Amino acid sequence: MIDTEFDSKHIWHPYTSMQNPLPVYPVSRAEGVYIELENGTRLIDGMASWWSMIHGYKHPILNKAIHEQLEAMAHVMFGGLTHEPGIELARLLVELTPPALEKVFISDSGSVAVEVAIKMARQYWINQGQGEKSKLLSLRGAYHGDTFAAMSVCDPVTGMHHLFKDSMPLNYFAEKPTCRFGKPCSEQDLLSITSQLQTHHTEIAAVILEPIVQGAGGMWFYSAEYLTAVRDLCDKYDVLLIADEIATGFGRTGKLFACEHAAISPDILCLGKALTGGYMSLAATLCNNKVSNGISKNGGVFMHGPTFMANPLACATALASINLLLESPWQESVKNIEQQLSEELLTCLSSPSVNDVRTLGAIGVIEMQEPIDLKIAQEFFVSEGVWIRPFGRLLYIMPPYIISQEELGSLTNAMLKFTKLQ
Ligand SMILES: *Cc1c(COP(=O)(O)O)cnc(C)c1O
Repeated sequence: MIDTEFDSKHIWHPYTSMQNPLPVYPVSRAEGVYIELENGTRLIDGMASWWSMIHGYKHPILNKAIHEQLEAMAHVMFGGLTHEPGIELARLLVELTPPALEKVFISDSGSVAVEVAIKMARQYWINQGQGEKSKLLSLRGAYHGDTFAAMSVCDPVTGMHHLFKDSMPLNYFAEKPTCRFGKPCSEQDLLSITSQLQTHHTEIAAVILEPIVQGAGGMWFYSAEYLTAVRDLCDKYDVLLIADEIATGFGRTGKLFACEHAAISPDILCLGKALTGGYMSLAATLCNNKVSNGISKNGGVFMHGPTFMANPLACATALASINLLLESPWQESVKNIEQQLSEELLTCLSSPSVNDVRTLGAIGVIEMQEPIDLKIAQEFFVSEGVWIRPFGRLLYIMPPYIISQEELGSLTNAMLKFTKLQ
């Protein structure tokens, strides 16, 4: 028996109270798109374990990659030493990511990749003798992680700023783009970010944004023209552009990287989540030669080095996962998921409890009128044989790419049924 009583007494789960914890469901195994609970209930995973498990659980090729790497070495420090999985992963990332991103810092989690990106941007300007360019310009509705610097560029209202305001760097924020994905972007849409840059560019090191899809800050999909315009604005006002593709990377939006929708290249790029196909924690921050030369000239060194950076097991798994993705018909799978999601989810748009429906790539979102009770929703979805975890007013899924039409149908059915209960 999995000791859930011990769990509720001693273990923190994400964003929970230790006095009144929400119930957690004991999982004994997982395979393909199924999570199996201890009591034998099988749940179709609509969350891909937070965007990451793109090939499904217990994939033979990923399992094999880990076993093989384990025989060579599980870990070795990256200071003064290097290894094949780290090199081959970096080679692949340089090749696949948008042009000119040539330098790779391999770290251990998404939030750290964002910290690294922010540090790179800051160090770049310090080493140019322009240390006053120290602030970040972010978008409302953004989510970039939970560590302090990452938190300081999350939406100031939903991003916990009020709790930590005395110990967090103060940054600038532009309104979130209102122009929807697939639609043009007007001058009006760019007004806020343009005026922030105009007024504050001498203090701004970089703009940081999630290209095309704002994830955990609101599941919002915005126009590619906005992204193109922001790239131009960054050049015009001489600030760097950081693209956080931790959620969107590796095919989720229908392109390998969401920047491709706008054919732009950021100065710094963050990757994580699906990087290892969901198997373990690994992240990467890439930058172009402008940034790396700027940091490194006159004897400069980049000041970061986590103990477990470029862990060989994680690198070998990431390498196998990316190759598996490239060898699979992922564009077609994501396209099919997108089509089915829009056909099936759009049917609830007229429902009085529903405010908006959005689909892009392998992401489907129903925005409700009212906040959803997480405990009730979770019990409902488990009883329907699916794993869907809403937040706020958002009911959303981003399933593994290997999901069948029928399994995806079970997910969308459960979502539609839930909206009717509200
Ligand atoms: C999840 C996420 C992060 C943080 O990654 P962790 O691995 O949870 O630290 C940062 N940015 C975006 C866009 C994310 O979706």
